[in-house]
Amino acid sequence: MTFEDRYASAVRSSNLRGKSDVQGAVDVLGAAGLAAKRTPLGMALERLFVGDNAAAGEIVNILAGMLVGKAWHGDRIELPRTEAADMARAVLAWHRDGVCKPCGGHGVLVMRGTPTLGDQRCTACRGTGRLLFDRFFSMERLHLARWLVAEMEREMNVAGPAAMAALRPKLDIA
Ligand SMILES: [Zn+2]
Repeated sequence: MTFEDRYASAVRSSNLRGKSDVQGAVDVLGAAGLAAKRTPLGMALERLFVGDNAAAGEIVNILAGMLVGKAWHGDRIELPRTEAADMARAVLAWHRDGVCKPCGGHGVLVMRGTPTLGDQRCTACRGTGRLLFDRFFSMERLHLARWLVAEMEREMNVAGPAAMAALRPKLDIA
């Protein structure tokens, strides 16, 4: 079982049955706490994706701070905090729900009057099935936004394994 699955059920602790389930959930949440010290952003993203919407504000804060720092050190521009927060929200929204609406993420359109996918490429997403990321940002800010998405993905890839490593000693795996 992946850490994400364990974490999701620990967060939705309504389905805990006995003492061992409770202890298991406590262990999972403890491991999440340890991993959050190593990757605060990655674990906040994990929390959001398992249904903790309160994590969104924290994530936007972290991301906005990263943007301000990157803009300064990389481009020598003073990115206003409010603009950074707007960009952070847009990046996060795209990451959470970036499915192209006209084609439902298929990249091709359904044939008129049928539920069947045709072979006409969706022009809204240019066949990618995702909302076009670049449209959300101005030309001057695009490289920052792209950098931020890459950082988010990197941190998320660290978070799961870090949490699993913290949890492993608690698991009774012979
Ligand atoms: Zn599309």
